[in-house]
Amino acid sequence: MQILITGAAGFLGSALANELARQGHSVRGLDDLSTGDPSALSPDVHFIRGDINDRPKLWTLLQGVDCVYHLAARVLVAESVLYPFEYDKVNTGGTVSLMEALRDVGVRRVVFISSGAIYGNQDTQPVSENAIPKPRSPYAVSKLAAEYYIRTIGALWGIETVCLRVFNAYGPGQHLPPAHAPVIPQFLRQAAQNGTLVIHGDGNQTRDFVYVDDVVKAMIAAGNAPDVNNAIINIGSGHETSMRELVRLVREVTNGDPEIVYNPHSDGGPARLCADITLAKKKLGYQPEISLETGLRLTLELDPRLKAR
Ligand code: NAD
Repeated sequence: MQILITGAAGFLGSALANELARQGHSVRGLDDLSTGDPSALSPDVHFIRGDINDRPKLWTLLQGVDCVYHLAARVLVAESVLYPFEYDKVNTGGTVSLMEALRDVGVRRVVFISSGAIYGNQDTQPVSENAIPKPRSPYAVSKLAAEYYIRTIGALWGIETVCLRVFNAYGPGQHLPPAHAPVIPQFLRQAAQNGTLVIHGDGNQTRDFVYVDDVVKAMIAAGNAPDVNNAIINIGSGHETSMRELVRLVREVTNGDPEIVYNPHSDGGPARLCADITLAKKKLGYQPEISLETGLRLTLELDPRLKAR
């Protein structure tokens, strides 16, 4: 297949691009490098630097493409609180720009990487795709709005669409900004260097952490599966882990002795979040294989930035 991946130089995009190229597909990758790193890509991936809102570039890149994976986005929840306009422009506007170009060129299928963040606080866990979304941040709103645009424009113009609501993905190569870094690489690095782990809230909040290789398998299945048009599908591990339990595992795998600091006044996000993955199993044959402990060990082993000093 001829495939285009947007956000290809990012954490999930590069893992997907490299695996698809390894399987023998012809892969083009677009990224504006606002956070991505093209050196993460194998030489078999054809990389092009560009913005998701650059329509002429999209028209050129889409020629002959069968399937598009749309991952280009701004991804930091806390940053989105400060810069909602930017998140709307890239995540929602960029999606509309891409869908117009797909319509113009005539692409068969688009797989959109949405987020479990759109659910917000839900009483029933694990949360299924039927739950009414309660987004709590501009990031979550931008991903939910993008889902609606993808499915509406897709249905109007006969483009097959699949939206994957990925929960907390982690693994080697995850973007590690100086502020608002994702919790797993941040904790691993701090623990390996005997630094400080700051837990927002009381540490009893839960999340569903899913290893990058399992997410890549789900994304590839979504590009090929029959009977998925217009579907919204959760992708997680199906396991609920509290921040306190995560800290215990991080100490164990790093053999570190970090200081643990609770910040009870800061917002720890939704109280509980765990994916019901029944639909992913049924529609995509999805079966997550990497436990959190194994995934943490792999991340530590494969990511040189997280080594002890
Ligand atoms: P990432 O920041 O590593 O990847 C996003 C990529 O998009 C970056 O390489 C960035 O340079 C690129 N990008 C940003 N703005 C762009 C623009 N205007 N034009 C072109 N490229 C642009 O983040 P990630 O964790 O790999 O996330 C990839 C996708 O998966 C995102 O859509 C994100 O919302 C979604 N997602 C991620 C997770 C997770 O836990 N990592 C969970 C749910 C959903």
